[in-house]
Amino acid sequence: MGLLDKRFENGGIIVTRLDDVLNWSRLSSMFPMTFGIACCAIEFMSTGTTVYDMDRLGILPRSSPRQADVMIIAGTVTFKMADRIRRLYEQMAEPRYVISMGSCSNCGGPYWQHGYHVVKGVDRIIPVDVYVPGCPPRPEALIGGFLKLQEKIRSESLVAPKAIERLLKESETHAAV
Ligand code: SF4
Repeated sequence: MGLLDKRFENGGIIVTRLDDVLNWSRLSSMFPMTFGIACCAIEFMSTGTTVYDMDRLGILPRSSPRQADVMIIAGTVTFKMADRIRRLYEQMAEPRYVISMGSCSNCGGPYWQHGYHVVKGVDRIIPVDVYVPGCPPRPEALIGGFLKLQEKIRSESLVAPKAIERLLKESETHAAV
């Protein structure tokens, strides 16, 4: 009997935490929205080319916010665009994440002082999970941002809060009886 056969002789049972399985599948299949607002978007597009190949991390851009779980703010956020960004963010299902890519999105970039038309940081309109510095950040930096986001997702729990909530409700019911 080979080593593999021995390992699976009892029916291939694997014991793990549900959170670990859910998080592993989520962090291995991040779907950013196909969306760019200025020059940083060119670097985002480069990240998808064969040279950098973000598909190998399971990162596949989607054209609808309803199918995406990551929003990359790649470019200058003007006040005119801010409402649209907010609306697209709200159309994404939870759990959703935001990567702020580049100086413009992080803090206004070259427009921080005299750019009357520029929002000085996208975190003023939507919550940001990871900031990628640079003007523009290289594709390697964006991949680094995705790896940071993977770390964050790995440490989350989708199950525990609900289980605790259920236990609290049950204990309240028992107390009332
Ligand atoms: S950070 Fe630099 S490269 Fe990126 S959108 Fe702003 S000006 Fe363009």
